[in-house]
Amino acid sequence: MRAVTFYNTLGRRLGPFEPLELGKVRFYTCGPTVYNHAHIGNLRTFLFEDLLRRGLRFLGYEVTQVMNVTDVDDKTIREAAAAGLSLDDYTAPYIDSFFEDLDTLHIERAEEYPRATHHIPEMIAMVESLVAKGYAYVADGSVFFRIAEDDDYGRLSGFDLAEVRQGERVASDEYDKEDVRDFVLWKGAKPEEPSWDSPWGPGRPGWHLECSAMSMRYLGETFDIHTGGVDNIFPHHENEIAQSESTTGKPFARYWLHAEHLIVDGEKMSKSAGNFYTLKELLAQGVEPRAMRYLLSSTHYRKKLNFTLEGLADASAALRRLDEMRFRLDHAREEAAEPSLVAATGEALERFTEAVADDLNVAGCLGTVFGFSKKVNVAIEAGELGPGDRERVHRLLARFDELLGVLDPAAWQPAETGEAGDDAAIDALVAERQQARESRDFVRADEIRDELAALGIAIEDTPQGPRWKRQ
Ligand code: AMP
Ligand code: ZN
Repeated sequence: MRAVTFYNTLGRRLGPFEPLELGKVRFYTCGPTVYNHAHIGNLRTFLFEDLLRRGLRFLGYEVTQVMNVTDVDDKTIREAAAAGLSLDDYTAPYIDSFFEDLDTLHIERAEEYPRATHHIPEMIAMVESLVAKGYAYVADGSVFFRIAEDDDYGRLSGFDLAEVRQGERVASDEYDKEDVRDFVLWKGAKPEEPSWDSPWGPGRPGWHLECSAMSMRYLGETFDIHTGGVDNIFPHHENEIAQSESTTGKPFARYWLHAEHLIVDGEKMSKSAGNFYTLKELLAQGVEPRAMRYLLSSTHYRKKLNFTLEGLADASAALRRLDEMRFRLDHAREEAAEPSLVAATGEALERFTEAVADDLNVAGCLGTVFGFSKKVNVAIEAGELGPGDRERVHRLLARFDELLGVLDPAAWQPAETGEAGDDAAIDALVAERQQARESRDFVRADEIRDELAALGIAIEDTPQGPRWKRQ
């Protein structure tokens, strides 16, 4: 197990991460609100959480991750009513769609995906406890959290309560609040809305309450890490802390990690701007899921990620370069008497591991992969591969891929096209030869032709460009 540093939004600083239980990490992730398909911004955050999970495991920790599914809130209720469907019937296809998207991007499954509608009793119990302790009050069938009772409120987000005038009333449907700053725990049902029986009459949980109740149900009153996108910091996570700590009198999550947003062509993604993408739309346009995973991983999670189609093309090209190295490695002879990549593999693993432990610096990890790949290519071209080098490199790539999940082309091919990973690498070599010819580097072009011929691949130059076939 390796020491790791994280940036904790709580306290706003980088520091050592120490789980409650040695070597074991319990973390909670705000999941999707299933009123629509996830967009690629949501998926960037879910992929960050996948990298966090894999990164911790890479460093030797045992991980338990819980991600909720918000299947009841204002949006799901509104859209289900508009569609004339029950809440369950309306959300079911979006829940399926969410899991499909996870699979498409090779995002590992969390240990639990609790649904809000399956945990209403726990939520009611929490509200009862808050009312009993004086942290909450009932007003006209709804229950509100009394912020004035919570001295710590605002410590996650830096939100200054004093700036909101006490007692001010706002024009909203929460007009029964004692204080404008209070937030709703339980919403009394309006006519026709889905509802559950409670001590305060029929109603439904507020969104913040859902996450508090489900995280504590599966991870305990105090757990290690809570994650989400930066938009969750306020009010969602601030309110989760207020409710949870007021209920238990104990610290809630100890580390809060937040992923910055994905933007598109430098702008906020929005339906009205026409730059709003779902993964499924991009796949229909022929986008490679593997390039998508690579692109979404390649910017540090605390930086905004600017999604562009050129960025995706660059991601594909970067992966091709790595595939080409793998392909060459598989077919190169180990001619040298001594291995030549022992030191390089050791150093690369060390550097990669340091980057993982440094606040999950996946961009740094990728930099190490490319530096290492260059060294392998140089060794192959110089005829310096020696005993065990091929296996040594493969083992290291497999170890890197425990975190990255993009390096093995075969893992991204449908089962029936076993040779497709090789095909992509051959395409890349043929393209490289063509480039060499165009820049009149005939020596290099012939080298590649010979290299391919040795593998039983023949190139034919046609007026439409080069073609290749297996002989
Ligand atoms: P939602 O389905 O709206 O509850 O959001 C699911 C997750 O996606 C939350 O953790 C949000 O913080 C995150 N999220 C929403 N918009 C973006 C975005 N543009 N970029 C990255 N993450 C986002
Ligand atoms: Zn949440």
